Amino acid sequence: MDKKRTINIRNPRLRQIRNNLRTVILKANWSIQHELLDKIAELKSIEGYYENLPPNFLDEVTHLKDKGKKIERALRASILLCPVCFQTDKDMTYNPVRKTWYCTECYAELRNGFTEEGRPEEFP
Ligand SMILES: [Zn+2]
Repeated sequence: MDKKRTINIRNPRLRQIRNNLRTVILKANWSIQHELLDKIAELKSIEGYYENLPPNFLDEVTHLKDKGKKIERALRASILLCPVCFQTDKDMTYNPVRKTWYCTECYAELRNGFTEEGRPEEFP
């Protein structure tokens, strides 16, 4: 997507459905993140891991951390929650420059700030 876009949902029932869907997706995502953290903790709990690392231990931990970062990045760029205020029940605006969705309130504040700084192109 290469254009600024705002999605406003006025109908209260549709807003509720949107918010519930966002919650379900976020919970599934957090569950995956916790699973990854548990797996990393499990790997680190291997007896004497400092002195006697299994052959592929660091590769496995790095792989899991990369996977977690990838999920986190995708979440922050998604329309599910605002990366500034972390609210999940707001109407959202897409910033094509940053390729990120922000809630309409944060977008407006950021836009004002960047405009005052002389960089309006960052928040069209
Ligand atoms: Zn926000």
